[in-house]
Amino acid sequence: VYVVTEACVDVQDKSCMQECPADCIFEGGRMTYINPDLCIDCGACVTACPVDAVYYDAELPADQEAYLDLNERFFAEV
Ligand code: SF4
Repeated sequence: VYVVTEACVDVQDKSCMQECPADCIFEGGRMTYINPDLCIDCGACVTACPVDAVYYDAELPADQEAYLDLNERFFAEV
């Protein structure tokens, strides 16, 4: 599953939302979130993002791991 990280905060370029074939990227507050139940791991959002905010979860930089939890919580509350 792909995860949006810190670089997106207050940027929300949303190019990823237009490119995502599964329409599984959503706006929430100051950034966007990827629904892990709908993501098909295509990677299109990674190349679309102008600030390199999207990572594959297994390749998340250590200082960005909190965003995996934040993302899960975002969709748990919906
Ligand atoms: Fe959408 Fe593909 Fe990115 Fe998953 S990896 S959020 S399906 S663009």
